[in-house]
Amino acid sequence: MNNIYFYSLQICLLVALLFFLIFVYSSFVFIYEKEKKAAFKAFLIALLLPLPYLFTWYYSWEIAAFIFVADLFLTFCLFLIPFSSNKNSTDNYPLHKIDERNIMFSRSELIEGSDNFNKYYQKYPDKKPLDDKFRKEPGLTAKGSLFYNRIAYAAANSSFFTIDKLRTAVDGEINPDKEQLDPAEIAKFLKAWSKKLGALNIGITKLSDYHFYSHKGRGKDYSKEIKSTHTHAIAFTVEMTHEMVRAAPQASIVMESGQQYLDAGRIAVQMAHFLRSLGYSARAHVDGNYEVICPLVARDSGLGEIGRMGLLMTPKQGPRVRLGVITTDLNLPADKWEKDNSLIDFCNRCKKCARVCPSQSISFDEPKLVDGIKRWQINSESCFTYWCKSGTDCGRCMATCPYSHPDNFLHNCIRWGIKHSSLFRILAVYLDDFFYGNKPKPKKMPQWIPGNKKTQE
Ligand code: SF4
Ligand code: SF4
Repeated sequence: MNNIYFYSLQICLLVALLFFLIFVYSSFVFIYEKEKKAAFKAFLIALLLPLPYLFTWYYSWEIAAFIFVADLFLTFCLFLIPFSSNKNSTDNYPLHKIDERNIMFSRSELIEGSDNFNKYYQKYPDKKPLDDKFRKEPGLTAKGSLFYNRIAYAAANSSFFTIDKLRTAVDGEINPDKEQLDPAEIAKFLKAWSKKLGALNIGITKLSDYHFYSHKGRGKDYSKEIKSTHTHAIAFTVEMTHEMVRAAPQASIVMESGQQYLDAGRIAVQMAHFLRSLGYSARAHVDGNYEVICPLVARDSGLGEIGRMGLLMTPKQGPRVRLGVITTDLNLPADKWEKDNSLIDFCNRCKKCARVCPSQSISFDEPKLVDGIKRWQINSESCFTYWCKSGTDCGRCMATCPYSHPDNFLHNCIRWGIKHSSLFRILAVYLDDFFYGNKPKPKKMPQWIPGNKKTQE
């Protein structure tokens, strides 16, 4: 019996110490993330959680042992049993091509009174009153907008200015001296090189019709039907830094969006030129000059899944990325896309983006039938109107998404649990609300950006 006492004491102390260490570690992670409230809560739990073990052991080692076994069982269930109610509630492939002229950026670029303007609203008169709303607002990075910040907006506009220069470099002459390339070898090279250039993750897919817009909606080729002979696409992500995103919808978000669009564009232009110099047709798709729908190409390249907010959700950075795509006629080995139903299931439960959206543009409902396929669709008109009012591309949804938390050991353990157990997904939704808040407020912008305001929602 003495032995049992001794071992139960050891085990209880060990469990108490383990809980203490886990929550102290979490507390430090939260401090590093400048999440003071979350850090305080974690520290409090670190102090309180071991106490029942110690007290229970003091009064009854049998109960302590029982609680310990129950804990082990729960942990095993939560993390290790792959409860498989992974709801496959969205469809995989759109039935029709999307016309780029219908997206908000294209509509915002229409000049009042111009031929294109008149033709567009003759064809879609129902969109006119909706678009009149955003036209009444100051506009993106405009003076008079809610989060006007001259320095930050000037920095963002410098990125967009540079991207504009890249738009003419997306395509070019193909070297007639064609190099015979080994597909596997060149794919390996492209993947490693793109990471060296600044890409985070990269994948390859075969192109289908639905990857392409039907018509150009921006730039000098407005209304031109898109016809491409390209058979393969290389898609990659670049990370948007957490410290710039967490203050969304303040000005740091539009600075970061501009910068990462630029980085993605620069890498895409460089890689497309590389392929053309080896004798293959290749086109970069950069902000403002796309022929493909990047999130769909990236999803089919195995980089993530489309979530409730309509953005690509990557496994480790969630929606906190920008995308780059190169299309080509070079035959490359395609990566396998396997639908991640755990992510769709988590989105079905979480709904945080819908709660925090200042314009109520994100649906709380289950995915619905849109153009013949079941998916989530945001209200892009009200979202864009808020952008024009705030002056930034908002990003509040991106900033608060539980998948957007930094790529570190703590959050990766949570992500692992989310992926592997539906029971854990339920717990993870509550945990995220408990530590970060059900409707978290925007954080401060980095200190070095002048005109810092905590929240202006
Ligand atoms: S905030 Fe929640 S519901 Fe929204 S995209 Fe992220 S995980 Fe999905
Ligand atoms: S960007 Fe802002 S306004 Fe648009 S859906 Fe996200 S939270 Fe809502």
